[in-house]
Formats: sequence, structure tokens, C-alpha cells
Amino acid sequence: MPSPDPDRSAARFQRRGRLIGTWWRRLPPARQDRVAALTPLLSVLLFLAAMVAAFWYLRTEEIERELESVKRDAELVQQQVRLRLIDNQEQLVRMAREVSTRAMARNDFIRQSESMVQTRPEIVGLAWISASRRVVARHVPWELASALPNLGLPEPLVDAGAGAVTATAFEDARDLRLPVYSRPFRHGEQMVVFQVHVPITDQGAFVGTLMAEYSVEALLRHFVPSEVSSRHVISLLDVDDQTLASTMTSQPGRSATKLSYSVGFAPLGHGVTLRGEGYRTSFGLIGSTLFWMVLTLSVLTMWTLLGTWRHMRRRLQVQGALVQETNFRRAMENSMLTGMRAMDSEGRITYVNPAFCAMTGFSEAELIGRLPPYPHWPPERLEESARLLQQELAGRSPAGGIEVRVLRKDGTRFDARLYVSPLIDSRGQQTGWMTSMTNITEAKRIRDQLTASHERFTTVLEGLDASVSVLSVPTSELLFTNRSYRLWFGADAHWHAQLAGMHTPQLARMDNDEADSVDALSGLPASELTDLGADPREVYVDSLQKWFDVRARYLQWTDGRLAQMLIATDITARRRMEGLAAEQAARAQVTSRLVTMGEMASSVAHELNQPLAAITNYCSGMLSRLQADTLKPEDLKSALEKTARQAQRAGQIIHRIRAFVKRSEPQRQASSAAEIVEDTLELAGIELKRRNVAIHSYVAQRLPALHVDPILIEQVLLNLIKNAADAIDNAQLPNSRRTIELRVVPRHTPDLGGAIEFSVTDAGPGLKDDVIDRLYEAFFSTKTDGLGIGLSLCRSIVESHQGRIKAENIYNGEVVKGCKFTVLLPMNSTSEITHKSTEHT
Ligand code: ADP
Repeated sequence: MPSPDPDRSAARFQRRGRLIGTWWRRLPPARQDRVAALTPLLSVLLFLAAMVAAFWYLRTEEIERELESVKRDAELVQQQVRLRLIDNQEQLVRMAREVSTRAMARNDFIRQSESMVQTRPEIVGLAWISASRRVVARHVPWELASALPNLGLPEPLVDAGAGAVTATAFEDARDLRLPVYSRPFRHGEQMVVFQVHVPITDQGAFVGTLMAEYSVEALLRHFVPSEVSSRHVISLLDVDDQTLASTMTSQPGRSATKLSYSVGFAPLGHGVTLRGEGYRTSFGLIGSTLFWMVLTLSVLTMWTLLGTWRHMRRRLQVQGALVQETNFRRAMENSMLTGMRAMDSEGRITYVNPAFCAMTGFSEAELIGRLPPYPHWPPERLEESARLLQQELAGRSPAGGIEVRVLRKDGTRFDARLYVSPLIDSRGQQTGWMTSMTNITEAKRIRDQLTASHERFTTVLEGLDASVSVLSVPTSELLFTNRSYRLWFGADAHWHAQLAGMHTPQLARMDNDEADSVDALSGLPASELTDLGADPREVYVDSLQKWFDVRARYLQWTDGRLAQMLIATDITARRRMEGLAAEQAARAQVTSRLVTMGEMASSVAHELNQPLAAITNYCSGMLSRLQADTLKPEDLKSALEKTARQAQRAGQIIHRIRAFVKRSEPQRQASSAAEIVEDTLELAGIELKRRNVAIHSYVAQRLPALHVDPILIEQVLLNLIKNAADAIDNAQLPNSRRTIELRVVPRHTPDLGGAIEFSVTDAGPGLKDDVIDRLYEAFFSTKTDGLGIGLSLCRSIVESHQGRIKAENIYNGEVVKGCKFTVLLPMNSTSEITHKSTEHT
């Protein structure tokens, strides 16, 4: 047969190995671990199973072999004994024949018996028994004579059972004319025997038997070979399985196993069996010891494997955590923009991170393992770089890092800052240095840009003719001042506080608040912090004799502290102009009132005429009655009273006109709308009467007091009424439309809140479109003799009371049926006279 090609089988082996390799690699790691842990366990289990099977097989094999040997031995013994018995029987048959032919006498018999017993030790006795069961002759060896006193028949037997047994055998031999074996029985004290009766016939007639008695024990002793008895126990058992004799007694200390083989004990019969039994061999003990050792070792191995497995799992968990940690660190390292470079104590690069490679353009392979000079050192700075490296290796690098110039692979350069820290290994020993590198080109550029922009910023601020100052709220120190501030106020923070309207105690309190709270802005309304100049202040500085418009704003200073910025603009010139303008306006108001009065002069004269005429009449009446001497004192009293009343009335008219015209500073006071309306109507009444125009007024009940200058409001209302009357008169309207309505009602508006509305409505021709746009323009008038300052003044008066004035036409469908002027005065405009607060410093 050709031997298999070694190349091919090697290739097959390799392929199989590869297959297993790919299968193994494709397994998920957890599976791999499990397989790696379970395979040895499984093999130990398999080994154990194989061992058990082997032991069992060996044991079975041995038992079988043993059984075979027992069987063989038992059969051998049985065969030998049988042959012997048959041989003996033949001898007896011969002797019986000789006895029947009278060739043998009693003495011959005894002699022959002696020789027979001598050569056949299993025979313990011989007897010649007559047909009448009498012992004709017998022979018992002398050593057994005492043991077998009653050999033969029919002597009384000690054992009745034995007697019956021998009797049965005798009778059977007689009846069958054949040698008959008796059942074994105990003869005497301890000897177990059986007998064979060989019939003696004389010409067909039974004349007795030759009886031989066998010792069962001697049979076994002489016919079981010593090698058999050393191997096995051979016993003879009776029908009840009672041991008659056994070789066991000759082998003390050995016990028989259950392995046995029984064979019928021919020619004895009677259910007597010969049994062979195996000795308990040492194999069982050794085998089981081995078995238990294998079992224990396997269990031990499994236990160790399980332990190893658990240990491995713990190791894997730790390893997993380590891998995770490593990945985390790697991800962190890769995401970092800082270049990292590690080197050993000789300066050999041992590690660079991706950021370092990205910054320099060199790959990891080009850098790792390099000794100085490194590829990223610019050639023109080799010396300086080497010096810095030496400093680095000596551990003398400054903590703030060193600025270096780095060469990229493409030849470009950039500025970098290096920080160095020692590399410590797990034993706490320094193995080298770790250098981190940041590109500061951009930072440098930004720094330059910042410096430039800062310069621009300060130039602009310095050039401003407004003073700019920033005060730290927590520490009350000036953080910034521009040139104008320094020029006007010097470097003193106290001026900032004064301009801002903060007095020193206020500042101090603010400090405390600041110290108490974590929030630097606590206690300050958000709008104040954000709205620049939401509440501009005008401040007069005595020492400079200047007015400043001051705008304040809270801001977060560059260091995060809360700061207040003030911009103070010199408005002295503007204030002066405003003062002049206000003076002029006041004058204009008076002038306007004078004009109004001038226009009303004829009406006023007419009005005064009446009381004066009445006084004249009363006086001339009294005079003539005095002359006629008809004047009674009572009449005189009443006439004088009437005269006085008329004089009072005239005086009142003049007083009111004087009060109205008199030039005075605007004076705000709590005034009732009803009183204002009453005074207005009184003044307007004279003119309206002359022009034949009716006026209806309505003043709502329980109006709150207004904080206004009543004369100015009267002036406004008077102007509106006069304009209405003018419009009606100039249009020469019929009587039905010669009406004016004055209404005073409370009103709520979104911008003013609670207010009082004064409205003057006329039934005149209304306002033309081109007039509406220019109503409040100074010196705009459609009247030939109009000055055009009435409504302009009205508006400035109303607005100085934070009120609103509005004009609208009233329509009847498409047709204009008059116009309405509405003045709204807020109820809470009580505290401030002008929009801007003023203060003197
Ligand atoms: P003047 O009364 O001196 O003309 P005003 O400023 O009081 O100056 O009024 C400006 C113009 O507004 C008036 O010339 C007139 O054309 C118009 N005007 C004012 N009130 C009314 C009114 N009630 N009806 C119609 N036109 C009016």
C-alpha cells in the first residue's frame, strides 16, 4: 500500500488550521473567552468520562475473565472428581463381582479394602452389607475408626437422618441393581460424607451391597489442584445450598466474591452442586483507588479551571475597563489641539500625538525614534533649538513655557509655545519628558490686532470732548477715564460719583451689598444696567461753571466686575440757549395774553361800561334827589350798596384781566378743573357775547385736583374758545351753528394713564386739509389780522404739563360740521415741572 503523500496531508492540516483560525477570529471576544474557558473544562469532563468507561470496561472484562476461569476450574474439578468416582465405582463393581462369584472371602475383602483405602484417601471406609442389611465385613482406617464408629448398616445410627439416607441408598441399589449414591450426610461429629452402594448379585438375585463412604472434604482436598484452590474457592453444596465442604477453610483471610459458577456434581446427584467462586482480588481495591484518584484529580482540575475561568473573567473585566480608559484617553488625545511629544532622557522622541503631526506636517514614523536635531527644527535656529532642548532635558524649562519657531514639512514656519513636564513611570521613576506644543501664531496675530483696536478705541475715547469714566461698583475706584475727564476733574473718583448722583454713603452701601451677595448685580434693576442714558441727568458743576448732560450705564468690566460708565457731555452752551428760549417763550405767552386782551379791548371796555354807566346813573340819581331833598336814608343806603356792587364788579373785571395779563413765573399748584373752566368762561364770556356765540360747558363731577399752572391752562382754553368763535364769526354762520361746547371729563389713555380731558368743540366750518398739517406752526394763520402763535403756544404749554393736544374735524356723513380740539392733562404729572430734572452742584 502506498504511503499517503506527506505534502498533501500537511496541506490539509494547514487548511484545517486556517479554518479554525478564521472561525476563532470571527468569534466575538466574549465568545472567545467562553470557548477558551470551557474547552479545558470539557476536555477534563471527557477525560473523566473516558476514564470511567475504561474502568468499567476493565472491570467487566476482568469479571468475565474471572468467571471464565472459575467456570473452567469448577468444571475441571468436577471432571476429575467424577472420573475418580467412576473409577472407584468400577473398582467396587469388580469387587462386588468377585464377592458374588465367591472369589473373594471376607478376609480378602478386608485386605482389598485396606489397599483401596490406602490408595484412595477420599474413601473413609468400605463395608460389605448383606441383603438383610448386616455388615458382613468392613474396613475403616484406624485413624478414622473413632470418628466413624457406626460405619455400615444396620447398626443404629447416631443420626436418625443419616440412617434414613443410607437406608434409602441401600434400597435403591437393591431395587435398581445399579450403583446408587446416597445424599451427603453428616457422619459422626463433623465429617460430611456420602456413600455409594454397589449391589452384589448372584445370578440375578440381590445378595447385598458393597458400600464405600467418601469424605466430601477429602474429595475436595485431594482432587482440587493447589493452583485451583489458590485461585478460587471450590465448595460442594447440598440441595439447600448449604456448604458441605469448601477449600475456603484452607485459605484463611480470603473472602469469596459474588462471582461463582455451579455445576451439578455427577454422579452423586441429589441436587448436590460443585461451586467455584473467585477470590476477592486486589484489582478491585487498586482499581477503585485509581478510579477515585482520577475522579478527585478531575474534580480538582475542574475546580481549578473554574477558578481560573473566574479569575480570567475578572481579568477581562479589568482589561475591558483598561481598554475603555485607553480608548477614552486616545480619543481625548486625538481630539486635542495641543501637540504632544514625549522623549526619553536622551532626547529620543518616543511618542507624538496626531495634533503634533498635524501641526508639523511630519508623520509619526518620521518623528518617532529621532534624536536631535529634529526634523521640525528650522535650520537657521538649530543652535538655539539645541540649547532649548538641553535646558528642557535638564529640567530647567520655565513654568510659563518657551516660545519657539517650528518648521513644517512643507517649509513654512509657525510660532509655538512649549510646556515641559516630566514623564514618570509606574515605579515613580522619571523616564523622560513630555512636551506640549500650542500654535500661537494665531494668538499672536489676534494679540496684535487687539492692541491695534485698543489703540484705536482709546484714541477715539481720548479725542472725545465728552468725559468718559468707568467706576468699579464694588471698590469705588476709577477703572478708566478719558482725556476730557482728566482735564475737567483730574483723577478723582469722587467726581464720577457726584456726576452720577451717587453720594458717598450710597456708594458705601452698594459696597456692602456687593460683599454680602454672590450676585454682583443684585439689587440693581436690569434696565438700569442695560439702557444707556435711559435717564439722562443734567448736572451743574459750580467749580467749572458748566452744565453736563450725564448718561450712566452699568456694565461688566473686562475682569467681570460690575462697573458704572458715565458719559458727561458739556451742554453749557445749549443750556444757555434753552434758557433764552424759555425766557422768550414766557415773554411770548405774556405777549399773547396781552394780544388777546388787546383784541378783547373793545369788549372789555363795553363790559366795563355797564357798571360804570350804572354807577354814574346811581350817583346822578342820588345827587338830584339830594338836591330835591327827597332822599331818605334807607334809599340812600340801598343806592350806595348798588353803586358799590357795580364798582366791585368793575374792579373784578379789571382784577381778572390784570391777573391774566400779569407777567409771572409759571407756578404749579393744586388747581381744580372746574375753577379753571369758570375763570375761562368769565373772560371769554365778554368776547362771545359781542360775537353772538353761545357756549355750553360741562364739567364732570368729582374730578381730582390737577397740579398745573391755572393761568396757563386758562390761556390754552381761552385761545381754543377764541379760535372757535373766530371761525364761526368769520364764516358768518346762522344762529343755529353759533355754538361752542366745552367739556371736561376724566379719561384713561395707555400712554398717560389717568388724565383729564378738556375738549372745545365748535359747529364752525372745520379745519382745511392744508391747515391741519401746519396748525401748530408759529406764525401760521389764515386770518388777515391773525398772529399765528396761539396754537403754537397752546401746544408748548400743554406739553410742558406732559399733556397732549389734538385737533380733528367732526363729520356728519361726508360733511364737516365743525371741529374739536382736545387737551389731555395727566393727573399724576404732579412732581416734575419740566421733563428734565435739574440739579445744582
Ligand atoms: P390765529 O388764530 O392768530 O390765526 P392760531 O395759531 O390760533 O393763530 O390758529 C392758526 C389757524 O388755525 C387759524 O388761522 C385758523 O385757520 C385755524 N384754526 C384754529 N382754530 C380753528 C377752528 N376752531 N376752526 C377752524 N380753523 C381754526
